[in-house]
Amino acid sequence: MTANLSRRELLRYLAALGLPGAGGAALAARPERIIPWRNWSGGQACIPAARIAPDGEQAVADAVRAATGTLRAVGSSHSFSPLVPTEGTLLSLNNLTGMIGADSAALTSEFWGGTRMSDMGEPLQKAGLALSNMADIDYQTLAGAIATSTHGTGPRYGSYSTQVTGLRLVLANGDIVDCDRQHRPELFEMARASLGALGIVTRVRLQNRKAFRLRRKEWVQNTEELLDNLPQLIRDNDHFELNPLLHCDLSLASSLNETDDTHTIPKDMGGDTEKVRPLALVDTYLRDAPRAQATLLDFFARHIDFPEVVDDSFRVFANVRDVRFNEMEYEVPAEAGPACLREVLKTIREQNLHSYIPLEFRYVKGDDIPLSMFHNRDTCAISVHQYYELDYHNFFAQVEPIFWKYDGRPHWGKLHTLNANQLSRLYPRWKDFLEVRAAVDPAGKFLNGHLRSVLGVNC
Ligand SMILES: Cc1cc2nc3c(=O)[nH]c(=O)nc-3n(C[C@H](O)[C@H](O)[C@H](O)COP(=O)(O)OP(=O)(O)OC[C@H]3O[C@@H](n4cnc5c(N)ncnc54)[C@H](O)[C@@H]3O)c2cc1C
Repeated sequence: MTANLSRRELLRYLAALGLPGAGGAALAARPERIIPWRNWSGGQACIPAARIAPDGEQAVADAVRAATGTLRAVGSSHSFSPLVPTEGTLLSLNNLTGMIGADSAALTSEFWGGTRMSDMGEPLQKAGLALSNMADIDYQTLAGAIATSTHGTGPRYGSYSTQVTGLRLVLANGDIVDCDRQHRPELFEMARASLGALGIVTRVRLQNRKAFRLRRKEWVQNTEELLDNLPQLIRDNDHFELNPLLHCDLSLASSLNETDDTHTIPKDMGGDTEKVRPLALVDTYLRDAPRAQATLLDFFARHIDFPEVVDDSFRVFANVRDVRFNEMEYEVPAEAGPACLREVLKTIREQNLHSYIPLEFRYVKGDDIPLSMFHNRDTCAISVHQYYELDYHNFFAQVEPIFWKYDGRPHWGKLHTLNANQLSRLYPRWKDFLEVRAAVDPAGKFLNGHLRSVLGVNC
């Protein structure tokens, strides 16, 4: 469902607000309060019949058992794709958050599914532990992040889903079940990246590592030079990322490496508005003068100051993204990454496509999770973005076929146009996932329209 409201939805909304147009009967009925939902970018919205936040695991089970229509779980609404929207019940784990326990010797921990990633670093640190890798931001909930196999960067590091060693789920019939490699292993392997289609994840057990510190360096360099030097850059750095600018020859490069340095240089948590502003101005005023645009972008990029950061890992990994955007990301085989990126950049220039938000180019280690985008292959993740107030459709439509050419799999939480027919060819264990889904939710209680389309399920 998109941000456009259907007439029926609009009438329900007006009725809830007590405004004209809803009809006398609806007004007289004093409808329950309706709380519309929308995602971080504003690109997805819905008006659920009910929004609930049960206050315990048993209450989640009771709510799932009682739900008669569709029920979707929502985390912190940071997915760009319509995974969440429903006209039925929207269930949040806002009341099931925080650490349940940790074992410092075994380097393991357990968290409630509704915990935001930003609330995990401190309690893990107190237990001498840390997440081995983290994504670009830490606003996501743990259950929401693993539902889409959310990832960071580093060819030796898998997604969050690979850090999961056990899960507790509430299934469609209200049963509360635990699963891991020993207990219900078929459910476990699918539930590690499930798009929220198998049940409500209430608890997550994790394999952690000892707490560690990171040094972050950022610099601006010619994109071709960086690409030529990639094998060395990814070999010599624990985490490496490239952010090519769209209309000049430069990229922002960043590396994160473990350090024993105890002297903290904290990160500026002021967000990226200031860094992005010059790029936005150049794009707005010099869009039709490509040479002047490239010259000015070059000038700005070379004059941005990137102070080094040294701190505990969880304070270094994540960024503050206060410039909103919509995003498409595909995961292509690692060895095809540079060629794919070059073709994307070439198309953007030749077609004069406009966005001032740099691309993102990262590495993720392959895994054995059936519906993970990294299933069975080491991967390059390549993203394109468009400012949330600007139409992304033409831009993304020009770029998406390039990803298909390189055998790309779309990020489940980001925008793409593939359906089940196309997706099933990208995942060798596709049918196994569908079988497990059908067994635990035969009536499709956890499916919305988008999931029916991407999974090809009609119930
Ligand atoms: C600014 C920004 C930066 C991002 N950076 C990255 C990045 O670096 N790497 C990356 O891979 N992705 C990134 N993403 C995408 C994001 O990490 C994923 O879309 C993630 O799934 C969002 O988590 P969430 O908690 O917001 O979940 P939501 O978006 O609310 O939900 C996502 C899915 O999780 C399911 N879900 C939520 N809670 C539960 C539960 N308790 N049980 C079962 N299912 C549940 C939902 O039903 C839905 O299918 C970014 C997104 C934004 C907006």
